[in-house]
Amino acid sequence: MPFLLRNLTLLLGESEELLLEKVVTRFSLQRNDITHFAVVRRGIDARKKPQVKLVYTVEFRLADEERFRATQRVDSDLEYVGEKRAPVFSRVSSGKRIVIAGTGPAGLFAALRLAEYGLTATIIERGKPVEERVKDVQAFWDKGCLDMASNVQFGEGGAGTFSDGKLTTRLKDANISYVLMKLAQFGAPPEILAAAKPHIGTDRLRQVVSAIRRHLELQGFPVRFSRQLTDIRIADDRLTAIEINGCDECLCDLLVLAPGHSARDTYEMLRRRSVAMEQKPFAVGVRVEHPQELINRIQYGMASHPQLPPADYALAYNDALSGRSAYSFCMCPGGVVVAGASEEGGVVTNGMSGYLRNSPFANSALVVTVGRNDFAGDDPLAGVEFQRRWERKAFQTAGGDYRAPAQNLMTFLDGKRRGKVSSTYRPGVREVDLSLVLPEYVSSTLRDGIRHFERKMRGFITAEATLTGVETRTSAPLRILRGEDMQSTSVRGLYPAGEGAGHAGGIMSAALDGIRVADAIVQAVDGRWSMV
Ligand code: FAD
Repeated sequence: MPFLLRNLTLLLGESEELLLEKVVTRFSLQRNDITHFAVVRRGIDARKKPQVKLVYTVEFRLADEERFRATQRVDSDLEYVGEKRAPVFSRVSSGKRIVIAGTGPAGLFAALRLAEYGLTATIIERGKPVEERVKDVQAFWDKGCLDMASNVQFGEGGAGTFSDGKLTTRLKDANISYVLMKLAQFGAPPEILAAAKPHIGTDRLRQVVSAIRRHLELQGFPVRFSRQLTDIRIADDRLTAIEINGCDECLCDLLVLAPGHSARDTYEMLRRRSVAMEQKPFAVGVRVEHPQELINRIQYGMASHPQLPPADYALAYNDALSGRSAYSFCMCPGGVVVAGASEEGGVVTNGMSGYLRNSPFANSALVVTVGRNDFAGDDPLAGVEFQRRWERKAFQTAGGDYRAPAQNLMTFLDGKRRGKVSSTYRPGVREVDLSLVLPEYVSSTLRDGIRHFERKMRGFITAEATLTGVETRTSAPLRILRGEDMQSTSVRGLYPAGEGAGHAGGIMSAALDGIRVADAIVQAVDGRWSMV
């Protein structure tokens, strides 16, 4: 059985080969006592910058574990861990017709998990395969021609395909390592298995997504692109069939509905069919961009180091009086700001980066929480209307051609014009007073938040930083209600999944949710959970 040793540190410039030496010395061992040695986690401790330390967790095995355990004094960093076993999946057979709508992380991981049990499903995706989608998205960024079926939100791989591919989550879930292993199996960089903050990058993620598709096809999953779920048929509160592209009807017993948070027409269809949904709080704001070297200096005390990745940050501020929070979100070191619209006449910002994170800029969303009291009425889609209103305002204010409104960060704070407005957002930006394209309470909480962030990260407020807006698609504006068995509380056989269903936020948590839904389907078809 392996031992885990946490909190081993190296200074910058020291080689990882020293780690084994450190273990040998710490426990008075001989080198050949150790029969296996591996780094299982790599992190960074920059609290005493510029004395940045690399922090490791290592795993090792010994020839004589019994003697070691009997003679070792207590060491709080040392843990004797059980043997890691790969999950075992028993074969399940079912005559049920299963359809998965959406090929984002939730849909893809639901499919991968069903395949482990020997089940198959038809996968439908409203957008195009990733290779074609990349061209459509590039045309939008170059020329401002938006394809409403193939864009940053819609198409193979889902919203995260054009992203930083961060895989962090606050969730504690036994399937996290399963997701990481699967991603590595399909071509993600193997270091995600050990990184404290794993990320893939948009370039590598595109390859992973198409490798998963090819694997699923080999497992008997037909993958149909340019097929949009446009309606559902229900009899006695049970799903019986689905409609595709407004015409084709297809019998369906179990539907994994994983449409992402931007499928507004799908939400409208669900409302027409009286599927139980409720409003959900989310956050809106802007993207901030700084020179990456400036962020490195603040976080590491140095502009760069070959052993350090481009620095990131996570900031939060709570306004006790209003109860609102401002926080950084989806921070992309060495990345670019992207145009993420999926609807005509609206501007939406987001961020992405490649595997190497080698753009000279760092960007992050800076957003403020909004909720029921900010929406007009009780309709479950009121949050969608709220998003749309500010996306359109941004579009019109910046010239109506998908350029985004942008402003120097210092000008946004005090109204005094100075510094440049410089954004990586394409097809371009127009200098605008950002308070014109945000609700007043969002602008004012953002200003207070940014001043607070400066206290945490000296230099954050600088004339070198630009804000670009509007960031509205931070998470789903509603939740599709489901029970413990993962089925919709109003339609049996309907399994809402992932971010669009309001049960996840981010690539990892959407993938985990897809797995949970697939496991629930297996339990149901296997007769362990009632399907009535
Ligand atoms: P999605 O990924 O949105 O997938 C939904 C899919 O369903 C889409 O492919 C869509 O075309 C399809 N679809 C929609 N409606 C229908 C329909 N009616 N019929 C058929 N198909 C349909 N998260 C992170 O954790 N890390 C990051 O670094 C990160 N960066 C991001 C950068 C950008 C630019 C964006 C836009 C998002 C980013 N996110 C990031 C968020 C992350 O992408 C999402 O949380 C995640 O993709 C949600 O997964 P999902 O499967 O629930 O939905």
